[in-house]
Amino acid sequence: MTILETISNHENTRPNSLAYVLNAPGRTSSLTWGELGSRSNRIGTHILRCTKERKPVVIYGHKDPLMIASFVACSKTGRAYCPVDVSVPVGRVQDIVDEVEPELIIATEDLPQINCGNATVLDAAELARISTEGDMEDLTPHWIGPNDVYYIIFTSGSTGKPKGVQITRDCLDNFVRWGKTMCTNAKDGYVFVNQAPYSFDLSVMDLYLSLSLGGTEYALSKSLLESMSELFERLRSSDATIWVSTPSFVEMCLADPAFNEELLPQMRTFLFCGETLTNRTAARLIEAFPKAEVYNTYGPTESTVAVTGIHVTPSVLEEHSPLPVGRPKAGTVIRIMDEQGNLQEDGNKGEIVIVGDSVSVGYFNDEERTRKAFSTADVDGTTYRSYRTGDEGYLQDGLLFYSGRIDLQIKMHGYRIELEDIEANIAKLDGVERVAVLPVRRPDGSVRSLTAYLVMNTPAQDFSSKDGRALRKKLTVSLPSYMIPKRIRVVDDLPVTNNGKVDRKKLATL
Ligand code: AMP
Repeated sequence: MTILETISNHENTRPNSLAYVLNAPGRTSSLTWGELGSRSNRIGTHILRCTKERKPVVIYGHKDPLMIASFVACSKTGRAYCPVDVSVPVGRVQDIVDEVEPELIIATEDLPQINCGNATVLDAAELARISTEGDMEDLTPHWIGPNDVYYIIFTSGSTGKPKGVQITRDCLDNFVRWGKTMCTNAKDGYVFVNQAPYSFDLSVMDLYLSLSLGGTEYALSKSLLESMSELFERLRSSDATIWVSTPSFVEMCLADPAFNEELLPQMRTFLFCGETLTNRTAARLIEAFPKAEVYNTYGPTESTVAVTGIHVTPSVLEEHSPLPVGRPKAGTVIRIMDEQGNLQEDGNKGEIVIVGDSVSVGYFNDEERTRKAFSTADVDGTTYRSYRTGDEGYLQDGLLFYSGRIDLQIKMHGYRIELEDIEANIAKLDGVERVAVLPVRRPDGSVRSLTAYLVMNTPAQDFSSKDGRALRKKLTVSLPSYMIPKRIRVVDDLPVTNNGKVDRKKLATL
């Protein structure tokens, strides 16, 4: 069954069960499966009537239940959706809207002041009205097809403009089919904890596994995540069985000894993706949740969330440090290539290339960047799409090990960041002549914070801490808060290597 057939089936067969719960401080809002069905059908009918083309729909908001109903409505009307979280700064929202040129923007929160072009904006009040009182047509003839783009998620791009990763329905179906195999330990009930906003592809793991299993997506709002005591209170009453987050987030939770089986007695599965899962974190989880299985999975947005996975058992922990990121899912082959594109033997490091049935069809409206990263490859007589990840790793007895990046992309607190993206946005500010952004790492290699080194058109000693604050404030228009460097250091010159590039190693020692 395809994802939409499965969702529709659950809407009809379990109408009174909870499909979605949003937990925000002092407030919860939810949707039953029946409500998800009727609301998405009504929103879908409206989409059909108010749009002429099958252009992607931009959906702006923060985890509101009607955001989810709108996602489903898009799929039921054959439209791709592009989720944009409220944490995306106004300049980026504008970039995304300019790129997508939607006919329709659905906003469950107030849209920032942007130029919407020719798009109609469906605001929260009208959306609420349509979703309960609007007409309802049979949408099945319009359902999304196997090769149609199902969603577009924008990620940090090295040019300073985000790039829209297009994921087709087939890609999503293939991911979900595999993802479900990691959820079997929670067979008594599927209640998924959601941490990531829906504009990050990690959220696809919890949302679509939950929707396909007929479960409940238990979403935690951004402000709830900022208050540990309230968060733990909500977790205590969640009956959650499956946890999906970055390792950084679970580490924050583990810092409180109350994060254990007593708090979440039904918890059976932890799924991690997006950054390194350390042996220490996995061991602490296994100890705190003896009935639960811990999985490390790996993959970029461009290959639909994750393409390798491993159940981290005590024996895996004993055998491997660092932990492997797993074995490829069915329908995926991992190749390790050197710079010339030669296949590497077991144990030899090289670039991780993903070949398979969940690799994206490329970046939205961006042939050049698509051509650079995507290609095709034959596996046993079948041609699949392939994606050069920019990750370095090696294979050993079928297991993939991740060893870092070969470019300037980093992960900080689970967020994917191209340092050149930050640099391009800083370089646009008045007075900035040159800039390099460096990660500040902890002893274990993870990134603690960012420092920007600037050469201004005025002497370095004239730059005050007030100027630094003003510069950081200006960046809030174009960069999400997690991408704004914590420290700004103004220097008279940036050291360069023999080939004229910024000498980042030397810069780090200044
Ligand atoms: P994103 O597109 O935000 O999911 O980020 C993808 C990148 O996160 C990958 O290309 C890797 O660099 C990194 N990543 C994903 N999974 C893992 C993992 N299990 N361990 C280490 N790094 C990971």
